[in-house]
Amino acid sequence: MLGRSQLRRALEAGAEYDGHQPEDLWIHWDDEDLYCCVCCGGPFEHLDHNVPLIRGGSHTLDNLVPLCESCNTSKQGRCPYRFYAERFPALKPYLEPYFDLHERLSGEELAARQGDTT
Ligand SMILES: [Zn+2]
Repeated sequence: MLGRSQLRRALEAGAEYDGHQPEDLWIHWDDEDLYCCVCCGGPFEHLDHNVPLIRGGSHTLDNLVPLCESCNTSKQGRCPYRFYAERFPALKPYLEPYFDLHERLSGEELAARQGDTT
């Protein structure tokens, strides 16, 4: 089921985990109106961490977004919302509040998180 391998990798990376089960993710995405790939609007097969694990992102419901395989491979390390806005400039004003959440973490919060693991 979608989510199992990501959970294992997240735990191996020492990410914060809120204990959600894969089925909880569907309910959460339903609540958030996330029914398709957040980049292209197509069917999705992957889940992505909005704030990457490598930058201290958590494996929690609020940090997981659906992505299709082609977007996941082509966006590389970038913020999925920024990637989406590059493809659909008209949507940029709506997406901007979500841009680079990981960069907002790069200050004190990220340092604190990194401090936790050392
Ligand atoms: Zn896509």
